[in-house]
Amino acid sequence: MNTRRRSALQALFLTLLIGSVEVRAGWHELTEPIMGTRVHAELWHEDGEKARALLDRVMAEMRRIDAEYSPYIEDSELSRINRDAGQGWVQTTAEMIDLLEKSARISRLTGGAFDITYASVGRYYDYREGRRPDDDAIAETLEAISYEFVQTDPENRRVRFTHPLVYIDLGGIAKGYAVDRCIEMLLAAGITQASVAAGGDSRIIGDRNGEPWSVGIQDPRRDDAMAVLLPLVDTAVSTSGDYERFFEEDGVRYHHILNPRTGESARDSWSVTILGPEATLTDGLSTSVFVLGPEAGLALIDRLPGIDAIIIDAEGRLRFSADLLDATDPAGS
Ligand code: ADP
Ligand code: MG
Repeated sequence: MNTRRRSALQALFLTLLIGSVEVRAGWHELTEPIMGTRVHAELWHEDGEKARALLDRVMAEMRRIDAEYSPYIEDSELSRINRDAGQGWVQTTAEMIDLLEKSARISRLTGGAFDITYASVGRYYDYREGRRPDDDAIAETLEAISYEFVQTDPENRRVRFTHPLVYIDLGGIAKGYAVDRCIEMLLAAGITQASVAAGGDSRIIGDRNGEPWSVGIQDPRRDDAMAVLLPLVDTAVSTSGDYERFFEEDGVRYHHILNPRTGESARDSWSVTILGPEATLTDGLSTSVFVLGPEAGLALIDRLPGIDAIIIDAEGRLRFSADLLDATDPAGS
C-alpha cells in the first residue's frame, strides 16, 4: 500500500474512531413498555457499550419484578400466594416477605390508608371494561380488607392470610420498589448521573450536566400538559392520580386508588406527588396520601422528616407540605 493511501486510510480510521467515541460518550437512554406502563432509564457513561448493557439490565430487572409481582400473570409468585395463602402457610421468597413487610410498615404509618388487601374488593373493578362491584358485592368483601390479615413468618419464609376472602395487590408499591432496585444496581456500577422511571414513579442520581433534572407533574385534567415542573437532584418522586386508570358512570369517576375503609375510589384529590429519598416509600406514600385526602395527608407528611408533598386537590388547587412552602417563600411568612 503506498504511503499516501495508507495515511488517507489512517485519517479515515481516526475520523471513524473519534466519530464513534463522540457518539458513545455521554447520555444514553432506553424506553420500554413494562408493568403496564412506560419504563424509561437514562444515564451518563463514558462507554456506550457499558451504558447499553446497564440499560438492558434495568429493563431486565423491571421485567423480573413484573413477572413475580403482577396479579395479572397467572404463574407469578403473587398469584400463587393469592390462590393458596387463604388456606394456610405458603412458602415464598425472602424478597416477597421483605416487600410484604415494607407494605405493612406503610400501612401502620398511614393508619391503614395504604393496604395491599384493598384488592379483596379492588379485584372486582375492571377499569378498561368499565365494570365495578355493586354495593352488595362491596359489603360482602369489605370485611376482608385489613393488612392485619396478612401474616408473615420471615424465619421460615412463609405467608398466610387469616381471612379466606383476602386478595393482595402490590400495585401501590411495586413500581417504586423496582425503581429503587434499578437505581441501587446503577449506583453499585459506579453511575453518578441517572434517572429511572416506571410510569409515575422515578428516582434520580446526581444532576444533569450541572443542572437539576426537571421532573414534571402531569396536569390531572389535561393529557398533554404539565401542571408543575420540579427541579430535582438525588431524589425519588412518585405521583398518584385519578386519571391513570378510570371510567366514568353518571358523571362519577371510578378510578384505581381505593379507600380501604369503603372499597370505593378516594375522591379528595386529583393527584398527589411525594418527594423523598427512596421510591418504594414515595410510591407507597403517594397512594396513601391520595386516600387520606389533603388535610390528613399533609399533616402526615409534615410529621415525616425528609418527605414532601405536592397535592392537586379536588378543586384543582395546588397544596404543598410545610417544608416546600418554606422553601418557596423567602420571607418565611
Ligand atoms: P399508579 O399505579 O398509577 O402509578 P399508584 O402508585 O397510586 O399509581 O398506585 C395505584 C395502585 O395501587 C392501584 O392500581 C392498585 O394496584 C394499588 N392500590 C389502590 N388503592 C390502594 C390502597 N388503598 N392501598 C394500597 N394499594 C392500593
Ligand atoms: Mg403509589
